Amino acid sequence: MATVHAPAIPAVYGGVEAGGTKFVCCVGTGPDDIRAEARIPTTTPAETLDRAVAFFREHTDRTGQPLTAVGAACFGPVELDPAAPAYGHITTTPKPGWAGTDVVGALRAGLGVPVGFDTDVNGAALGEVRWGVGVGLDPFVYLTVGTGVGGGAVVNGAPVHGLVHPEMGHVRVPHDRVRDPFPGSCPFHGDCLEGLASGPAIARRWGAPAQTLPAGHPAWELEASYLAELMAQLVLTLSPRRIVLGGGVMTGPGLFPMIRARTRELLAGYVSAPAVEAGLQDVIVPPGLGERSGRLGALALAEAAVAAEGLQRP
Ligand code: ZN
Repeated sequence: MATVHAPAIPAVYGGVEAGGTKFVCCVGTGPDDIRAEARIPTTTPAETLDRAVAFFREHTDRTGQPLTAVGAACFGPVELDPAAPAYGHITTTPKPGWAGTDVVGALRAGLGVPVGFDTDVNGAALGEVRWGVGVGLDPFVYLTVGTGVGGGAVVNGAPVHGLVHPEMGHVRVPHDRVRDPFPGSCPFHGDCLEGLASGPAIARRWGAPAQTLPAGHPAWELEASYLAELMAQLVLTLSPRRIVLGGGVMTGPGLFPMIRARTRELLAGYVSAPAVEAGLQDVIVPPGLGERSGRLGALALAEAAVAAEGLQRP
C-alpha cells in the first residue's frame, strides 16, 4: 500500500530587523522572494511590537498562508541563552523604555509560530552567509559602523553566542591623544572603538556630520586607522575568511582601500596568507546584500529556528 503524504505546505517566513529607530518587517523566503515589507518607527515597546505582529497577521489573513516561523535580528544587548529566564529579552539598552523588553515572548504570543532570535549584527552575519558575500566562508564577521559600532560572527555555520554575545565594537584601540584629542563618546568606555569611530563620534570630533566631510578630509584617514585596529584584532583572534563592513559611515570616501592597507601594515608580515599578501581586497569587503543584510538575516534566523525545533518538512 502506498504511503499517503499530506500535501506539503511551502514554507514562508517573517523577518524583523529590530532597530533603535525603526523596525523593518518582511515576509518571504530570501532576497529574490520578498512578498511584503513594512517600516515601523520604534516608539514604545508595546506599540512597536503590536504593529509588527499586526503586519504579519494582516499578511496571513490576506494570503491565507500561515507563517512557518519568524526571526528577529534585534538591537541589544539581548539575552540569547535559552535556559535563562530573560531569554529573548533586550537587557541593558540605554534606549528609554526598552530595557527588559520581551521581544521573543511578544512575537510568539502574537503569532504562535517558532521564533528565531539574535543580535542585529549576528543576524546580518547569518544573512550574508546564507545569501550574500559570506556563502561558504567560515568563520565570517559582519561589522556595522553607523550610529554605533557592532559586530557579529558566524563560526561553524552558527552565530557566535557565549558568555553573552560578541561586542566587538567596544574593544579598546590605541588612541594617540596628540593626533586625536577627541576624548571619545561611548557612555560606558569613553574612547573604545565605538567611542572614537561611530558616526556620532565623527560628527562631534569634526563639528559636522560624517556624510558632509569630503574626500581627502583628515577624518577619513583617522577613521580608517581606528577600524583597521579592529580588523587586525579580528584576523588575529578569529581568523575570519571574510569581514564585511557595512553601515552608513562606510560609504565615506576611500575608506576600504585605506582600511585594507593599514590592516596589512598592522599585521606586519606575521599573518601569512595569499589573501593578505594580495592586499585583503577579498577579505575586507562591503555587504553583498546592501542595506538588506539585517532583514534577510532575520529570515535566515526564522529558517534556523524551524530547523532547531525539528519542524523542517521533507
Ligand atoms: Zn564602548
